Amino acid sequence: MSAFFQIEELFGRAAELTWMDRAACVGSDGDAWFPEEGGRPSPQVRRICDGCPVREDCLAYGSDWPGVWGGKTERARRKHDA
Ligand code: SF4
Repeated sequence: MSAFFQIEELFGRAAELTWMDRAACVGSDGDAWFPEEGGRPSPQVRRICDGCPVREDCLAYGSDWPGVWGGKTERARRKHDA
């Protein structure tokens, strides 16, 4: 691996850590962010995500993953992209 890619990888990880460290859900029950297929986020999850300072970063990061990212379920994100 070239030095360029090593540095780019390190910066990428640093950027991820930066926004994740500021996530409002840090320390919360992670299962709550993975409602059953087709389920909606609980009011508690919605309240936390609504006030999260890194919501846009989270939405972009988790766009292809299951669960709630950026305050949106997988289904809601698919609708948003359509
Ligand atoms: S928007 Fe993302 S980072 Fe913020 S609380 Fe919700 S799931 Fe956590």
